[in-house]
Amino acid sequence: MRAIEQLERSRLWDQAVSDALRDWSWLVHHPESAMWDPAERCGVQECCPDPDEARFILGLAVSVLLTGDARILRMQVTALDKVRRRTVRHPFEIGNRTGRAPA
Ligand SMILES: [Zn+2]
Repeated sequence: MRAIEQLERSRLWDQAVSDALRDWSWLVHHPESAMWDPAERCGVQECCPDPDEARFILGLAVSVLLTGDARILRMQVTALDKVRRRTVRHPFEIGNRTGRAPA
């Protein structure tokens, strides 16, 4: 997909979109992951992916794709967003691995 290659070359990095899709997909299926808490991440994207960044890159990719390809990617992202909405709990519980109820 040329539009993606161009986006990665000009604004992101090589494989940024497929990395973001992989990371976002993993993250939404692991709502208990410490990665949702910025304080728990080391700052290295390959090691501790930033959920906001991954989702932002996917939005960007959908916006630059031509209609057919955009529709396919948008469907994937929409499905993952639904998982995210279903699994997200009270915001204070995110990254809270103590099992303690939020105050
Ligand atoms: Zn890390």
